[in-house]
Amino acid sequence: MAVKLIPCEIEGEVGLDVVIANQDATVADLIQALQQPADDSTIIKPYHKQRYGVCRGCVNNCCKYNSIVVDLVAAERLSAHLGLSLRDFAHSYLSCHSDLPFPEFKRRPCPFLVDDCCTVYVNRALICRLYLCTPMTERLEKLRAAVLLMGEAALRQRLLEEGVVARHWQERQLQESLYRRYRSGALTMDEFEREQEQLELLHGNPFLAGKGYDDTKLRECCSGDLWLQICNNIAEE
Ligand code: SF4
Ligand code: SF4
Repeated sequence: MAVKLIPCEIEGEVGLDVVIANQDATVADLIQALQQPADDSTIIKPYHKQRYGVCRGCVNNCCKYNSIVVDLVAAERLSAHLGLSLRDFAHSYLSCHSDLPFPEFKRRPCPFLVDDCCTVYVNRALICRLYLCTPMTERLEKLRAAVLLMGEAALRQRLLEEGVVARHWQERQLQESLYRRYRSGALTMDEFEREQEQLELLHGNPFLAGKGYDDTKLRECCSGDLWLQICNNIAEE
């Protein structure tokens, strides 16, 4: 496997760390790696009613309580599944308020959750594929966050181009809001620089170039520093 998740101790519990076994690992490889612990009832899931169990049918379902931010690939797939244009899908299902950084489902619980199960499983959002309540190492969390940022920023950009969302999501506004958060003390210098670096990376966004989960490489979603951190225990294939 190009991406392996291995058990490790995190704050006294058994959590997960990531090992990249192939520099060309893709988003689909990360999704596949995360599916195994989601289906494994021996892996701790602190939000699960019994603390252990599989995600399918979980009644403490994260789909009920979390905001579900949507990425471009999922938005296009869900639009096609529902027979809607991307624009109509956005109007019917997405909230694009100026106080949100990315488009998310208007309804909570998720509109596609029925009897604690997902009714659009093959088309579910990237965040649904990458979220697991199991404790994780910082580098695995950062990898998930970087991939999600790419997918979600790609949808934001596409909706901007289609005139669905207002100018508060233009790059200049995002830069200004980042700077305001830094000046107000909401971000440290390190966080400010990291977010700026991620904003820069969005210029080469693979999802905007039409790539899907199978052909987007994880390293295309990461800054050079982050990729080095993630790969610092790279395994031989
Ligand atoms: S990740 Fe979500 S569905 Fe899975 S056990 Fe945790 S709360 Fe339940
Ligand atoms: S799309 Fe499916 S997996 Fe994602 S939040 Fe909705 S019900 Fe849950």
